[in-house]
Amino acid sequence: MSAHDDVLAAAKDMLRLNLTAGTSGNVSARLDEGLFVITPSSIPYDTMTLDDLCVIDATGEKVEGAQSPSSEKLVHLACYKRFPEVQSVIHAHPVYASMFAVARQPIPSAIDEFAVYVGGDVPVAEYAMTGSPELGENAADCLVSVGSALLANHGTVTVSESPEKAIHQLGVVERAAQIVWGARVLGGDAELPASTNETLGGYYRMLRNPGS
Ligand SMILES: [Zn+2]
Repeated sequence: MSAHDDVLAAAKDMLRLNLTAGTSGNVSARLDEGLFVITPSSIPYDTMTLDDLCVIDATGEKVEGAQSPSSEKLVHLACYKRFPEVQSVIHAHPVYASMFAVARQPIPSAIDEFAVYVGGDVPVAEYAMTGSPELGENAADCLVSVGSALLANHGTVTVSESPEKAIHQLGVVERAAQIVWGARVLGGDAELPASTNETLGGYYRMLRNPGS
């Protein structure tokens, strides 16, 4: 499987798993020589083919592909620039996580094992308008020690070592958002012991940066 295959499969999974709606959201992966493969703008995921994917350089210029690259390419590029270990980025609009994004509340790491996959609480990046360079920079500011962040009043951004793992991580985040939301409806959300999240978040950070 090439990075192109992985990006296309993750994009189709994102829609199938209800992690975004319509043509919103976008998936990318790092290639060699400072290039990135990214889903195009405004093409339905169910009919998207490998030929629809775009290759862009670190400035966002298209170097391959007939379609226009995603309008949120700057979010992806900001994450790749800031974090050399990141191999894939997904931006999406999942319903429950987006509820937290609109409320501008972090999704707490309230479920055991959540921090293994995500690193800890999912923070809210400072608001910036869609398509602006600040949106990517604000998101990257939040992704130093965790793998997912909320874009205020917008959606999510997830960084990982592969498109497949990024989709899994995004699913974990969305499910946690739904569960925490429901727990609050039931009357409250109990916190995990801080030591649990420290230990499990430590595993996440060790796997992300094995040398550190
Ligand atoms: Zn978006």
